[in-house]
Amino acid sequence: MLLDLATLHFASAASRCAYVIVFLVMALSQRGQTFLWHWMGAMGASMAGSFMMMGVPPETLPSVPVTMVVYWLYSASLVLSWTGFRSFFGQPVNVGLGVFLAALPGILYPVVLATGLSSRFALAAVFACCSVVAALTSYETLRRMPGVARLWSQYIEAVAFGAYALILLLSIGMLLGTDRPIASAESARASLILDQVAGVFVYFGYIAMTAERASRRLVRIAETDPLTELYNRRGLAEALRQRFAGRDGHPSAGLLIADLDHFKSINDAHGHEGGDRVLTAFAKRMRNVLRGTDLVARWGGEEFLVVLPGATQRELAAVAERLRASVADEPFSLRTGALAVTVSIGTTTMDPNDDDFERAVHRADAALYAAKSGGRDRVCSAPTGALPDGVQKNEVQVDGVPARCDDAVFA
Ligand code: GH3
Ligand code: MG
Ligand code: MG
Repeated sequence: MLLDLATLHFASAASRCAYVIVFLVMALSQRGQTFLWHWMGAMGASMAGSFMMMGVPPETLPSVPVTMVVYWLYSASLVLSWTGFRSFFGQPVNVGLGVFLAALPGILYPVVLATGLSSRFALAAVFACCSVVAALTSYETLRRMPGVARLWSQYIEAVAFGAYALILLLSIGMLLGTDRPIASAESARASLILDQVAGVFVYFGYIAMTAERASRRLVRIAETDPLTELYNRRGLAEALRQRFAGRDGHPSAGLLIADLDHFKSINDAHGHEGGDRVLTAFAKRMRNVLRGTDLVARWGGEEFLVVLPGATQRELAAVAERLRASVADEPFSLRTGALAVTVSIGTTTMDPNDDDFERAVHRADAALYAAKSGGRDRVCSAPTGALPDGVQKNEVQVDGVPARCDDAVFA
């Protein structure tokens, strides 16, 4: 393979220009995504450094001022990659530390030379600084941050910057441990090729991270009810699919439908905003009563559906009653004052052998209807297997609270 230096320099400059243009368009079209400006700055700085090195013959070391500027640009590029990751993950950016890390290699170079050490040591010091920043950048992509979901594309960056750090360390070893010439056409060619390959991973990695996070956000928005931040119907369907994927038949689970009582009159008396406050406060009470593994969805306006995986009839009745009591026992605070609210709940369990989700929902709905007809503020359950149409007065029973869904309901 014959790759002459002029071709490599041209390919490097051309691809960097293309990356900068792509990122400029992304940064301009996605306002507020400051990390894109950091990453574009990183590319711009390394592009400027490469342009400066183009003018230096491969067998000669550049002058001290040129070396200082080139390594300022290269280390600024690494630092901007690092600050870009911090900004991407919503972490604060320490500007002072960034400036210090970017400036250090270019300052160290003449300082080491001034102590009488050879340019091998001076370059080794520069590479050591750059290696630390590259390692820091790699660490930044792997750090666990509370509340921030991992992206697969993060690992591309972690590996690319880890490789940068490693290559720099190897270069230090070659500088100090061998007597190979510091500047040669061979080493210039090797570093240009490595830089090209790493650049592709780093820059495509940036785009992949941005795209992966944007697509996850879109999915979350599409599957979440914006008011209560619970699942919407689509979100619940997807969560059920994921939870029970790969199982034969339908899961054994408890199902509960809760509907706030006389909600229309809450809206009428306290305005739509008051109604919304009740809905969000109710969602919060639900989260407090339910387990983290239960799937909670806003099923309709003031109607909520919960799937309790693996729950028995007994557990389901206890949870439903706790939920009912959590609403009735403590008034909701609105701007206009405290408001007493109640909820009616219908429950059923899903039989894994002889049931599907829609049939179970119909049954829970029938039980909810029974609770409404029975005077509200109560829990009624429909036995597994009974179709909604077949709910007879002796087939629906109240669990846990026998007085609350009596025969009068079906009279
Ligand atoms: P019941 O006890 O029989 O359930 O009576 P209800 O008044 O609660 O039931 P109805 O279905 O008559 O009224 C539901 C109301 O919920 C009507 C609708 O305007 C209101 N609603 C639906 N979605 C929202 C919402 O997002 N915010 C607010 N504030 N109200 C909503
Ligand atoms: Mg209602
Ligand atoms: Mg309703």
